[in-house]
Amino acid sequence: MVTGLFPGHHMTDTCSLCNRDALEPIYKPEKSTRGLTVHVCGSCGLLQSLPRADRMERLPAAVSGGADWGNVRYGKGFRTRIALDALRRNVDLTSDFSVLDVGSNRGSFIRALLDAAPHANISAVEPDERVASSCAGLPRTQLIEERIENVALETGRFDIVHSCHTIEHLIDPARTLADHHRVLKAGGLLILDAPNTALLASDDIVEEWFIDKHLYHFSERTLTRMLEATGFTIIEHPDFKDRSNLFYVACKDGRKPAAAGSDLQEVEYARELIASYVANRARNMLALTSVAAELLSLAPRRMAIWGAGRLFDSLVTYGKFDASTLTLLVDKHLQAHVSQRHGCTLVGPEGLADSKPGVVIIMSRDFASEIAAEVGKLTPNAEIILYSDLIYRARLRDAA
Ligand SMILES: [Zn+2]
Repeated sequence: MVTGLFPGHHMTDTCSLCNRDALEPIYKPEKSTRGLTVHVCGSCGLLQSLPRADRMERLPAAVSGGADWGNVRYGKGFRTRIALDALRRNVDLTSDFSVLDVGSNRGSFIRALLDAAPHANISAVEPDERVASSCAGLPRTQLIEERIENVALETGRFDIVHSCHTIEHLIDPARTLADHHRVLKAGGLLILDAPNTALLASDDIVEEWFIDKHLYHFSERTLTRMLEATGFTIIEHPDFKDRSNLFYVACKDGRKPAAAGSDLQEVEYARELIASYVANRARNMLALTSVAAELLSLAPRRMAIWGAGRLFDSLVTYGKFDASTLTLLVDKHLQAHVSQRHGCTLVGPEGLADSKPGVVIIMSRDFASEIAAEVGKLTPNAEIILYSDLIYRARLRDAA
């Protein structure tokens, strides 16, 4: 279908889940350096971005609230604990077993696994030489510096395949999942973790969710169907409370792959999700102006912001927040990649104990409660204000 909204669009790609030639443009991400357009499959509802370039230019780290966010590559480390806990529930970690780690990044999972499982052997696949080097020379680990699509591995070789926030980057995720199934032994396990489109329905979404690095955007429904179509049996389903991630444990138990058919209810859900995302985001970008005004009134009390990432960038870019009024900008992880954001020098958490601000604003969604606990220890007298409360109050003011 060619619509007036996206002139010149031609359908040349088929859906990775249902194989139908039914992709329709539905949303144009902001500041996409790849020129991506999000499509919905009119047959099964899987959201996917086109064009599917198989190799993205290696851009420098971009800290942004737009689609160009990326290349800081620290997010996977936050998911190591949950993956290891799942392994503990399903595998005897003292036994001798082999693991394929897909998209090893800087090796956070590998290091944790080597520690926890003294006889595990690991094949680590990571195409980005800038981060793969940190996995070089690890014991019991074979490093393969290549995209997973280009790696030919032996059939039935692995007990475990671990894939964390990788599948959404692939050209054809169903084909790669089928290959994970092939390389597993009978009874082998896939541990799969991916971003969750449920976050699009968040009341407080303000950053561009459809970033350039992601070609596929899964709901629990579409990823569950893709796993089942590939022949996997899901033994642990995603936690419905986690709006940010879809975490699965699935088993190769001899069930035959079966083509995924149409799912018109999911198509309808995907369309409504995008519509609510666009509306929420527009309203929240406006509310950021009001958030910035509230923050300005707090500045005389010496204010720190913790979190220099996407939400902070949105606050400055859309809300026109004057970052020079800040006493301190704290970020534990981005410090390794950028030294300054919007004129403020990034400092680590220890900066809080030194400068003792009167107010600490937490610009984080997933880690807000952990950060708040840490702030409470470092500077017990500071008032703590969460981003979600700021945006909620601002919307009430805007509505009044
Ligand atoms: Zn489809």
